[in-house]
Amino acid sequence: MTKLVKSIVFVFVFIFNMYSCKVVQTAKVGIDGKPIVNSSTKSKAVKAFFIDSTLVKKHLYTLASDEMEGRKAGTEGIEKAAKYIENEFEKLDLKTFGNLQSYRQTFDFENRRTKENITSSNIIGVLEGKSKKDEYVIVSAHYDHLGKKKRGEGDLIYNGANDDASGVAAVLVLAKYFKEMGNERTIVFAAFTAEEMGLIGSTHFGKGIDASKFVAGINLEMIGKVPSFGPNTAWLTGFERSDFGKIIQKNLEGTGYQLFPDPYKKYNLFFRSDNASLARLGVPSHTFSTTPIDVDPDYHKLTDEAETLNMTVITQTIQAVAKGTTSIINGKDTPKSVVIKE
Ligand SMILES: [Zn+2]
Repeated sequence: MTKLVKSIVFVFVFIFNMYSCKVVQTAKVGIDGKPIVNSSTKSKAVKAFFIDSTLVKKHLYTLASDEMEGRKAGTEGIEKAAKYIENEFEKLDLKTFGNLQSYRQTFDFENRRTKENITSSNIIGVLEGKSKKDEYVIVSAHYDHLGKKKRGEGDLIYNGANDDASGVAAVLVLAKYFKEMGNERTIVFAAFTAEEMGLIGSTHFGKGIDASKFVAGINLEMIGKVPSFGPNTAWLTGFERSDFGKIIQKNLEGTGYQLFPDPYKKYNLFFRSDNASLARLGVPSHTFSTTPIDVDPDYHKLTDEAETLNMTVITQTIQAVAKGTTSIINGKDTPKSVVIKE
């Protein structure tokens, strides 16, 4: 080959490689991590099942950044997180909830421990259902965390990447997903405040709703680590308290992703996250998690940083939640009432 031909070939190969990389980056990946070859490539009528890991990472790293200062309720740090979530809801053109004039449900409460008065907001966005507008499914996670350590040297920020920036990232990505896929029931996306101070935000939210309209609650907590059951698994709190978990299991058959009952019974986790605030009102409401909480070295520690999380686990879990809850979102399945006795 002449020098000129060589360089033309080189440029061509270079462009081709760039294009191939791009194709790989945007390929549709299934829950099992294998590329999806589905009918959407043949027929536009069937929509692809696709969760973008780049977007998951962006949300996670932003919410868990030092700039958010540990997102403690009542601080400037959590205000930055609130604005970020509002902005994402705005981009998706979500509606406001009930009588609220914005995505914010702002309220005052007293910190039980310090007795100080705190003003904070739940951030709530709504994707109206097509055929079952008055039947609600809530998808939630708490966006607050522990703030900053008062004394010491070095890193003093409780970034709360797994707890629970990972869950909020999932809420934002699921909002985009269902906006694209469509939904028969109305979905309420909620980022709750002051969970760490005693489920304050979700309890406040519960006071203002007609709980009989809520058919299910999907809460996400700490979905960034490989569970004790191994990869491609998650566990659900209060599994035996309703048939919600069984519906998810049925929908996940054949995907390679498995949902297990919460293996940490002694921690009473069903009552320790925001799902409990709705469950107490009779809503079959459960928390998905992947974290081996009994041995996790970062739980409520300064080391709960984004870099400790496994992006594949988060992305595949969001995919599994999307797929697993679809029959509830589209009105085909309705979980039976929940047992709440402790
Ligand atoms: Zn949490």
